[in-house]
Amino acid sequence: MSAPLFEKIALVGIGLIGSSLARVIRREGLTSHIAIATRSPETLKRAEELGLGDSYSTGAAEAVKDADLVIVSVPVGSSGAVAEEIAPALKPGAILTDVGSTKGSVIAQMKPHLPEGVHFIPGHPLAGTEKSGPDAGFAELFENRWCILTPLPGTDPEAQEKLSEFWRRCGSNIDTMDPEHHDMVLAIVSHLPHIIAYNIVGTADDLATVTKSEVIKYSASGFRDFTRIAASDPTMWRDVCLHNKDAILEMLARFSEDLASLQRAIRWGDGEKLFDLFTRTRAIRRSIIEAGQEIDAPDFGRQVVAHPEKLAKG
Ligand code: NAP
Repeated sequence: MSAPLFEKIALVGIGLIGSSLARVIRREGLTSHIAIATRSPETLKRAEELGLGDSYSTGAAEAVKDADLVIVSVPVGSSGAVAEEIAPALKPGAILTDVGSTKGSVIAQMKPHLPEGVHFIPGHPLAGTEKSGPDAGFAELFENRWCILTPLPGTDPEAQEKLSEFWRRCGSNIDTMDPEHHDMVLAIVSHLPHIIAYNIVGTADDLATVTKSEVIKYSASGFRDFTRIAASDPTMWRDVCLHNKDAILEMLARFSEDLASLQRAIRWGDGEKLFDLFTRTRAIRRSIIEAGQEIDAPDFGRQVVAHPEKLAKG
């Protein structure tokens, strides 16, 4: 265990990401006080039962008082309302960050509410599962995963380094990029795959010629891998779609064009074209495994080897 980095850390939102943070913060001794806030008394009670923090509140403003690090882990569509609520209670000099899956929209929602003297450094850990809530979290979630920071112009380098050190101690590797670039990259590596999975599972569900029991019985043929991703939290993904609209629509347009070309190759029996594409995509899979970002099993990067019991539920 290392010396505490912060005297008090406030976690606003204690679902999968917030509760994983609480667990790793505790394990690594990154603070002497974890203050937890969530909007519903039920979730708060569960967080307390799990012993995730040192103080608990349904009021985010109360939790962030005197905190030197505040991490907002709520669906991206709620970031503005949370920023408005906590702004008057933020300590001057505090670092404020978030974990939202979209960055341009979160910045646009939060920044206007924030007082001078608070270091707002948006972030996004590229780590997750399809589960939600405080029970779903685990301390190893961020290990060997990327955390992208999207600092705004004029960000204090010392505050940025302190936040980077925080994420490194949580096990992550740090990258920085501008928010627009983040949103474009994530649209292709995360948002589009989720939309495709939601769509394919929806299509199978609507099919009249293939029964639901057949879909389930023969799911290991490929469908199953899509169902895991399509089981992701509906609120979170509704918000991601609505709050990264432009980048997602651009990627969807390219995807649809490429799909039409694939459709044409199948229609005209262009085996060479199909073979070439499938060979190229196989190489991408190999480079992901070589980069240590996946094990050699089809599960959309969701498998957590350190926690086999979590897999059993999925
Ligand atoms: P989660 O498990 O569903 O937890 C969401 C938390 O936010 C709960 O504490 C919930 O409070 C609170 N919340 C929900 N709606 C709210 C609202 N309208 N106002 C205030 N608080 C609200 O979600 P999560 O998976 O931890 O995701 C949190 C954030 O992390 C999202 O922005 C998501 O984009 C980002 N993220 C997720 C993943 C992933 O794979 N899950 C990965 C990286 C980043 P109550 O339960 O009390 O209502």
